[in-house]
Amino acid sequence: MCGVVGGWVTRAAGKPRALGLTPKDRRTILAALADSAESRENSAGAWCDGCARAAAGACDRHAADLDAAAEYRAAAARIGGDI
Ligand SMILES: [Zn+2]
Repeated sequence: MCGVVGGWVTRAAGKPRALGLTPKDRRTILAALADSAESRENSAGAWCDGCARAAAGACDRHAADLDAAAEYRAAAARIGGDI
């Protein structure tokens, strides 16, 4: 579900009103993005053996969690949110 919301907001970037978003819709989307970003960041914070061995400091899965969290925060910023 988080990916669906993220994709919807990404497509809406710069044109949130074109989708007929109400202020409540916007708050709901921002809350979902904040929850999703926090969840991904918490997941990435549970470093694993793969992270310990990775030269970059994070395994592919946990690096993807951090990337997703950054995308959620960027999408929120595009609709004027600060999460
Ligand atoms: Zn890991």
